[in-house]
Parts: sequence; C-alpha cells; structure tokens
Amino acid sequence: MKALVWHGVGNIQLDNVPDPQIEQPGDAVIRITASAICGTDLHFIRGTFSDMQPGTILGHEAVGIVEAVGDEVRNFTPGDRVVVCSTVSCGVCPPCRAGHTAQCDNANPNGPEAGTCFFGGPKATGPVNGLQAEKARIPFAANTLVKIPDGVTDEQAILISDIFPTAWFGAELADITRGDIVVVFGCGPVGQFAIASALLLGAARVIAVDSHEDRLAMARRQGAFPINFEQEDPVEVIKKLTGGTGADCAIDAVGVDSQHAHHGPASAEAEEKADKFAQEVAQVAPETHPQHDNWIPGDAPTQALEWAIAGLKKAGRLSIIGVYPPTAEIFPIGKAMNKNLTIKMGNCNHHTHIPYLLELTRTGAIDPAGVLTNVEPIEKVMEAYEAFDRREAGWVKVELEI
Ligand SMILES: [Zn+2]
Ligand SMILES: [Zn+2]
Repeated sequence: MKALVWHGVGNIQLDNVPDPQIEQPGDAVIRITASAICGTDLHFIRGTFSDMQPGTILGHEAVGIVEAVGDEVRNFTPGDRVVVCSTVSCGVCPPCRAGHTAQCDNANPNGPEAGTCFFGGPKATGPVNGLQAEKARIPFAANTLVKIPDGVTDEQAILISDIFPTAWFGAELADITRGDIVVVFGCGPVGQFAIASALLLGAARVIAVDSHEDRLAMARRQGAFPINFEQEDPVEVIKKLTGGTGADCAIDAVGVDSQHAHHGPASAEAEEKADKFAQEVAQVAPETHPQHDNWIPGDAPTQALEWAIAGLKKAGRLSIIGVYPPTAEIFPIGKAMNKNLTIKMGNCNHHTHIPYLLELTRTGAIDPAGVLTNVEPIEKVMEAYEAFDRREAGWVKVELEI
C-alpha cells in the first residue's frame, strides 16, 4: 500500500509498504478514506520534536472503514465507518476510566510511565505506524475508534480525529465561563477550533493572535478580534481590548514552533531576547535540515507563552495545548508565579471528547468542515506538506483523500 514515510529530519517520502495485519486480539485494521496533515507532523520534519525512527509512517488523523477486527474488539464489525482517536487508549486502566485517555497505562509499548501513545510519532510514543496511508493497524481499537453517526461527512469527521477535540480540551482546561474574555495564540486549525470552542462555552469576547492575514481573517469571520503581531504589540492591544486588565484566560495553540515579531513595535523586544531564543531553539531542535523555505523551525519557542502570561489578568488562567517536546525546559515561571496564574496543559484526551463533538456536528450546532481549506489526493501529499509548512495563504487545513 501507499504510505507517507519519515526517513529523516527534512526527508519524507510517499513509499510502497506492506499492508498492516491484525497483530493483537485488541487490534483492528481499517481502510482509510480520509487523512489529514497536522502542525504536529511538521515538528518531526523540522526537527523540533526529535527521536523519530526512520521508517515510521506519519499521520495521526483519519477516517475510515473497518476491514478486520481481533477477537477482543466486540463493539465494531467490518464495514463500520469510524473516526480514529489520534491518541491510543485502552479504556479500562485507571487514567482511562477517569477520562485521562492520553495518559493510558496500557497503550504505550514502552510502559505505563512512557507517556502518551499516538499514531505516527517518535520512539517514546510507541512508535505506532501512522495514518497517512491507505490502511492502518489500530491498537486497542475498541477504544481508539469511534463510530461516525449517519449524516456526518468525511470532511467533517476528519477534523474531529484530532484538532477539534484538542481545541475543545484546551477550552475546557481554560475553565471558560459565560462572560470571559479569552485570548487564543495561534490561528492555525487548532486555534480556529479553540475560538469556536470558547464561543460555544460562552466566552463574551475572543481575541486571536497570529501573523498570517488569511488565518486572522478566518478568525474574524468566526467573531474573534484579530491581532497581527507583526504590526502591533499583542500584549498592548490585549490590554486595550480588555479594559486595561488583561484576558481572563489564554489558550496557547502555537507550541514549540512559535515565532517572534520581525516587524512592528513587538520586534524591539524580540531583538533584546535574541540570544535567549537562540538557546531555546538549540535545545529543542539539535538537528535541522531546512530546504529553501521549507522545514524551518520556529525562531522563538517560548514567545507565545511569554505573550500569554503578559496578556493575562492577575490570577488569570493559561491553557497549553500547543505541542512542546520533552526536551523543552525553558518556561517563564517567575512571571507566571508572581501573577498567581493557574496553568493547565496536556495532550488531548481524544476518546473522552470525540463522541460529544460528533454529536454537536450531527445536530448542526457546528460545522467543523468550515476550517478545511484544501482537499488533495494522497499522490500530491509532498506538495501539500510543503505548502502547509510554508503557511502559504489559503492553506489552513489539508485533508488527504485516499
Ligand atoms: Zn493533529
Ligand atoms: Zn488505558
């Protein structure tokens, strides 16, 4: 079958690989009908999340049809239409039963202390072959797959495999209540869904920070107040838009590939911090292989966090769902501590949130497909990756048809 394979930093290829098989009684094999490219995949190619094993199939977002199930998978049968949870979970261990399915004790082959197990990730996450492929083996399929209700399309469901639940989880971590002013850093696909989730949870005002006009325009269409950090000082404008106090809560939907300002009033501070940011990049991305204008790591890993902490009100709440590798050790803890902030973070507990978001979609409360900007055949996956990596105008979220 065809699959997108990670060969090294800056080196991915569409290869022919053997079809997956049932290996454990809890496995299923699915035929994938839609996959998607995610910002998380870019970290592995840019080198800002290391320890990938050559030969690993990339991708952790998919919709498909069940082809075969192992003896222990009683709740699915061949022919069922399913969405795949990006994180693998068993459903029976204590963390799973408490809803913390990303911290499952049994899913990660490296043991209960190894952390989140997800598709198409580095060695410490499994590795489990990913979903940018014609077929996939799904471990712990009884919990890792969720049936798609009638009336929900592939184009809607593919966004509920990872990015919508991640954003929803982030909005829940931020404890958004009616009347809150929420600031979302990053207007990529997860940021867009963080805006939507904040509004669904009753936020009175959502402020959205990014540097790409097409993404800020999408945020504005949702009702958010956009700030372009290449033109304005985001912290100053957040203060202005919150009556001088700062936001009630902030969601970091950027993560390790954060960029500092290169123009405008916020660039002076970035110049002062140039050495600090360079040290951070060296720590999180020891090996990089940029090619022309592709696979370039972000130049300021803690920039979004710094702005978030500065833009929050006293005793505000920070939710971190942007991805940081375990090697990232720099955090502006002093400023956060002295402001009495509450900080919550983590990998999304997909299984816990996906059924509810499928139901919101089925009822028409939200149409997740509004964030999808590009649908490409798997044969064009390389070009799609390159355009998405460059954040080309109009490339917010890419579905791969398989
Ligand atoms: Zn993803
Ligand atoms: Zn579990």
